[in-house]
Amino acid sequence: MDQPARRPRCRAITRKGFRCPIGPRPSGLCHVHDPAVQCGAATRRGGRCGVATGGGPCRTHRHEHHPDQATLELG
Ligand SMILES: [Zn+2]
Ligand SMILES: [Zn+2]
Repeated sequence: MDQPARRPRCRAITRKGFRCPIGPRPSGLCHVHDPAVQCGAATRRGGRCGVATGGGPCRTHRHEHHPDQATLELG
């Protein structure tokens, strides 16, 4: 009684090079990889916070409200 092999999976590739095994959202990406449900806040290293929150900032960035820096653009 196995599940069908064609079960939909997230399109993202993990750091180890494997397909992400988590079931996808309508976007084709799982809740971990879909940017729509990630924090998305800019990090100090110039990256993007990828913490899966379900939408909105993560706990770390929720408290970082710096209106002065909001308009700063890198480059
Ligand atoms: Zn995924
Ligand atoms: Zn964050």
